Amino acid sequence: MIDLDSIWQDAFNNEVQRAAEREAEKSLWRKGGRATKDNPDKENGEWWATSGRQMFSDWVQWRNGNDWTIWVTPDGEPAIELNLMVPFADQIVKMGIDRVMLMPTGEMVILDLKSGQRTPTNDLQLAFYAAGLEKTYGIRANFGVYWMARTGTTSIPVALDKYPTTMIERIVADFAAQRDLGIYIPNLSHCSLCGVKEYCSWMSGEKAIIPIGTKGN
Ligand code: SF4
Repeated sequence: MIDLDSIWQDAFNNEVQRAAEREAEKSLWRKGGRATKDNPDKENGEWWATSGRQMFSDWVQWRNGNDWTIWVTPDGEPAIELNLMVPFADQIVKMGIDRVMLMPTGEMVILDLKSGQRTPTNDLQLAFYAAGLEKTYGIRANFGVYWMARTGTTSIPVALDKYPTTMIERIVADFAAQRDLGIYIPNLSHCSLCGVKEYCSWMSGEKAIIPIGTKGN
């Protein structure tokens, strides 16, 4: 009998420990979500200890409830948290793919695990992963999907053939060209989740050094 409680507890404790080692200043840790009547202190460690355990159970149930299997790379590595360094347009793009799975039909699905509330509104992340797999292994994934931990279900699978690798190459080339020119366009719809906003002039970040309107902002 598999002891899910101890698997969860060990994994949770290890992640907290790893986070503590990565982020020496604990004051920089942030709580997610909004303060609510039930969670006046937002989604803090206690919330994650309970809700994360539920998400883990839902994941196990979802995996047991379908016949998708984990794809194994040509190198013999199960495609679980598959870390790749992929050259695109003379740049190296680092990516970590949560899962690559196979349907019983043999079709390949890229699956990204999401613990946040919102389902992504575009497929760009999945498209990058498809291009990364193709460039690394010469294999094209058919579909991409988000597994939403708060509902225990997947988003609607998207066909990834509409995002050819040449498109991803072009996006990376354009990003690189912008960076070389010191052009950084703000993405104001994502600021609340941004990990570098303290450096961002658009958010009047404390550590921002380049005033808005100046090249390199
Ligand atoms: S805070 Fe600044 S860097 Fe972060 S998403 Fe917003 S505009 Fe972009």
